[in-house]
Amino acid sequence: MKNFEKSIAAYKEAVRYMPGGVNSPVRAFSNVEMDPIFIERGKNQYLYDIDGNSYVDYVLSWGPLILGHADDTVISALKETIDRGTSFGAPTLVETKLAQTIQSIVPSMEMMRMVSSGTEATMSAVRLARGYTGRDKIVKFIGNYHGHSDSLIVDAGSGLATLDINTSPGVPKSITYETLTVPYNDVEAIQRLFENFGDEIAGVIVEPIAGNMGLIPGKKEFLQKLRELTTQHGSVLIFDEVMSGFRCDLHGAQGLYGITPDLTTLGKVVGGGLPVGVFGGKREIMKNITPEGSVYHAGTLSGNPLAMTAGITTLTQLKEEDYSNISRKLDYLSEKVQASANRNGIPFTIRHVGSMWGYFFTDGTVENFDDVQATNKDNFYKFFNYAIRNGLYIASSPFETSFLSTKHTDDDIEKTIQVFSDAFKTM
Ligand SMILES: *Cc1c(COP(=O)(O)O)cnc(C)c1O
Repeated sequence: MKNFEKSIAAYKEAVRYMPGGVNSPVRAFSNVEMDPIFIERGKNQYLYDIDGNSYVDYVLSWGPLILGHADDTVISALKETIDRGTSFGAPTLVETKLAQTIQSIVPSMEMMRMVSSGTEATMSAVRLARGYTGRDKIVKFIGNYHGHSDSLIVDAGSGLATLDINTSPGVPKSITYETLTVPYNDVEAIQRLFENFGDEIAGVIVEPIAGNMGLIPGKKEFLQKLRELTTQHGSVLIFDEVMSGFRCDLHGAQGLYGITPDLTTLGKVVGGGLPVGVFGGKREIMKNITPEGSVYHAGTLSGNPLAMTAGITTLTQLKEEDYSNISRKLDYLSEKVQASANRNGIPFTIRHVGSMWGYFFTDGTVENFDDVQATNKDNFYKFFNYAIRNGLYIASSPFETSFLSTKHTDDDIEKTIQVFSDAFKTM
């Protein structure tokens, strides 16, 4: 059992200055009956807190750190870059280099813009879809999360769901009125929506592999239907690959499914641990961005050399990576943990795609947000409390996805299977 004394004291101080003591709500450990843990440092697959406890990390900063914490190559590239300055607000060679690297991996991104977060990327992609089509309505799926911009913070999965709310005060009704929401993976519902509103829809934004209501892969026929309907009605199809990009597969969900969106948004892994988002896609659409076109987009720190360098170094290493090594570890983990749940009579489902993995306390099918809502949250919270006290750093909400880095070893996986098994016995 671990001692969290210093974290508890640090949290008391933090809540005086920041709402909930944090800068993003999920970090506050809402609902889990313990205070958040303050981190001192991380190296590769491990995290170390200020009380001297260590953890095998499956959060990885909520996705970005596919090479683990403080990867040697990324850190030395950053050290070399920082001596020359951190931001110029003028063109640099590294911006083009990151764009070329991204395009070599995600060829549908014929042109792109760098921003500083996933939220900015999706917000800008939505504006572009509206500007390009001259229409206002945006379609999103219940339980998908696309950052916290006004148009998209409706039925938006993890953060809101953990707090049991469906949109936010402060978002004008006139804006949410333009956002149409449909259940995820529901082919008939989206078909009906297009029959009624098709010619008013500027764009459809989707997490092709949903990761913000637990891990729920989009069904192929569902994503194909989105491609078909948007083409037919002249709407823009936006794949939000902020989480799935470089994670479910080197080439993202679009590579995995062989479906090409009009626009793609990236974040998380693309910044290698620094703040980067990217939106891009068809040249014909992207050239409407200022100054080539008139859809406004800008950013003081967009494309800064530190962030670009972390991105280039990370993606360059990933191009050499064999993703099946990661999958093999998760195959093994899933098989063992599922068997242990079954032996202990715990309703449980575990799944993974590439380096994303997730589990639900249910033995029913989980294909949309309603299915997630029906899972056993008490068992999740019991599991969380057991795991965090026994050396696994996992997400504190049943609506989040877990991740694996290239650094996790077979030993880490064995240890993790053991913690799951021991936790099941306490339920
Ligand atoms: C994390 C996430 C975002 C938001 O990215 P931020 O960098 O947190 O603003 C958007 N879309 C998806 C799919 C995400 O997982």
